[in-house]
Formats: sequence, C-alpha cells, structure tokens
Amino acid sequence: MNPVFSELPTTIFDVMSGLARRHGAINLGQGFPDDPGPADVRERAADFLRDGDNQYPPMMGLPVLRRAIAAHYGRHQGLDLDPDTEVMVTSGATEALAASLLALIAPGDEVVLFEPAYDAYLPLVLRAGGIPRFVSLKPPHFGLDEATLASVFSERTKAVVLNNPLNPSATVFSGADLSLLASFCQRFDVVAICDEVWEHVVFDDVRHTPLMAVPGMRDRTVKIGSAGKIFSLTGWKVGFVMAAPALMTGLAKAHQFLTFTTPPNLQEGVAYGLGKDTAYFEAMRRGFARSRDRLARGLSERGFRVLPAQATWFLNIDIAGLAVADDVAFCRMLVETRGVAAIPVSAFYTEAPVRHIVRLCFAKEDATLDAALDRLGDLGRALA
Ligand code: PMP
Ligand code: GLN
Repeated sequence: MNPVFSELPTTIFDVMSGLARRHGAINLGQGFPDDPGPADVRERAADFLRDGDNQYPPMMGLPVLRRAIAAHYGRHQGLDLDPDTEVMVTSGATEALAASLLALIAPGDEVVLFEPAYDAYLPLVLRAGGIPRFVSLKPPHFGLDEATLASVFSERTKAVVLNNPLNPSATVFSGADLSLLASFCQRFDVVAICDEVWEHVVFDDVRHTPLMAVPGMRDRTVKIGSAGKIFSLTGWKVGFVMAAPALMTGLAKAHQFLTFTTPPNLQEGVAYGLGKDTAYFEAMRRGFARSRDRLARGLSERGFRVLPAQATWFLNIDIAGLAVADDVAFCRMLVETRGVAAIPVSAFYTEAPVRHIVRLCFAKEDATLDAALDRLGDLGRALA
C-alpha cells in the first residue's frame, strides 16, 4: 500500500460521526445541515433523472451548468469567466482539489498550506509528490503576516492552497491578507488554489472577495466552489473549478481520469439553482446567522467562551482554562457522557497544533440546537 494513505488515520468527520451513532449523540461534528435543501432544486434534478438524458455528460460539465456558473460568479462576485474555456464541473470540491493538486504539482514542488487545513489538502499534496510548507494560523483571528509568509515562500514554491472563508475557524481573510498573499504569489510565480466553498455562507457585514479578483491574480488563481454548501445539499457532490485557459487545460486532464464526469441530473438541478435571485441567498444567510446566534447564546449562557463566527456552518469554543486535557479529550467526553458530537480543531493541524479550540455545527433546526444545549447542561461551568 502507498504509505501516504495507509498511514493516514480515518478522517475526523467519519470518526466523530461514528462515535455519534454509537452513543446516540446529537451530531454537531461533521458539517451537514438539518435543512433538506431547496425543494425546487431537488425537483429539477428529480425531473431530469426521470425524463432527461442520463448518459455520460460532457467531460467539462453540462453546457447549461457551465453557463450558469459563469453567470452566477459574474453576478455575485464581478468575475468575467468564459464558460467554454474557464469553467469545469467536478464531483464535489474534493475532486476539484484533487484535480488541481495532481495537475499542478510535480514531485519535489513545494506547496504552502495554512493550518488549520481542511483535512483533504495534505494527503493530496503528498500523493502528488509535493512538499508541504505549513503556516500555522492562530486564534482568534487566524490572519496572515508578512514575516511568516516570507519564511515559507521561495523559488521552489509551486502553489498555495487558501481556504477562504476558513473552515474550521469560521473566519474570513481580510482584504489586506489577500493583497499580501497576492504579492507573494506574484513575486514567486505561484498558483493559488482557492477553496471558496463557503463563499455564500458569510454573515453580518462580511462580503466574500475571491482571490481571483485581486489585481494580478486573475491568471494564477484556481477558484473552487461547491453546490453542496451553496444549497445545503452536501450529498450531491457537485463542485466547480474556474481558472484561466492555460491552467484549465491541465486541470481537465487530471479530472478526466479521476471521475471524468458528474451525474447529469444533479448538474441540471445546480444549474437551475445558481440562477436563483439575490433574495434566496440573503434568506439563506439570515437563517444560518439566526442559528449561529442561538447556539452561541446558549453556549455563552452555559459558561463557554464562544469565538466570533463570520462564515461557514460552524462556530468554535475556546476551552483553554477548562479542566480538561485538550480538545480531543473534551470531544470524547462530550460525545460519551453528554451525547453531543463536536470536532477537535487540532485535527486540522500537522505542525504545532492548537489544542484548545472545539468546532460545533449550528446548521440545524432550533429543536436540535436546543436539545444539544440541554444535554450540555452546566458542563462549561462544571469544568471552569
Ligand atoms: N473544502 C472545505 C473547506 C470544506 O469545508 C468542504 C466540505 N465541508 C470541502 C472542501 C468538500 O466539499 P465537497 O463536499 O463539495 O467535496
Ligand atoms: N467538510 C465537512 C466538515 O467540515 C465534512 C466533509 C466530510 O465529512 N468529508 O464538516
């Protein structure tokens, strides 16, 4: 077996969901909403499944979806994408990440990864023969700084992976962070792989800026999105990747031997959904912001220190100072003794892990959140 995979632990999401099932716990670990997703989008996919053409779609994706993606990002983010040469449909953002990393990295190339890092990045970089250079981001801001970037970027750097908004920290990189990163990418001729799956799930006054729109980045950015996050349909695994033609040609060659294509009825449903009006996206954000506030308030009332959550379906609590060894011990105790599953954020670090942050998913019905809070009881104060 290839040690890149055989030596890997099972992903933390599956571990915690397994523990949640075993202990009959409320699962606030793995990120998936209680909401079943928009009925009209699901109906569109169902209609197509019954009546449409269910043979292989084109390798780059159904034209109707590629046009919808280009139009969507034009409308929401001011990007000017050519649907024929700059857009490709993938089986989830995960496949887009795999295709991008496999296509871009040759053995020995260095890749800058920010930690906390979504858990798919490192194995894919290693499998491609890349050498990771980690930058550890620290709570509560998880921001960038010039000295640290200067210590990892060099002539050997081929790519950097940026997850913005950032899962699990629920933070958004500032305009200054993006400009700083862009300047390093340009100075060292580096491609930025931008995992922007959370781009629509931003709260309060936050607006998402794609790195691709930062001056100098248009032709050196691979932008990745996911319908799973945009429409609360995580099981669909419809992703998209956008890049200038010179990059896209290489990405498509990796994609053709990973999945080649993605179920056509789901592509049709997503194409329809991406055309929804701004009111839909605003209502979606308002709904999640309400749930975030409900869980945050309940946790604070129970004595937990809640970190600000600007984006994603997650919020974090800081357990430093509580009478528990670390985030892993805390999550184990939570699921075993209180029947609530959460995610230890140290799982997103390889080097110098931060061990006092715990992630909880608030994309749930009020009743689910309230039941989880009831189960937590006075735990925060009991451990203080
Ligand atoms: N990147 C990040 C940062 C994510 O949070 C997720 C899923 N939660 C993915 C990628 C994977 O997206 P998909 O399910 O579309 O493969
Ligand atoms: N991305 C999801 C999360 O952060 C989980 C995805 C998965 O289970 N692979 O919770």
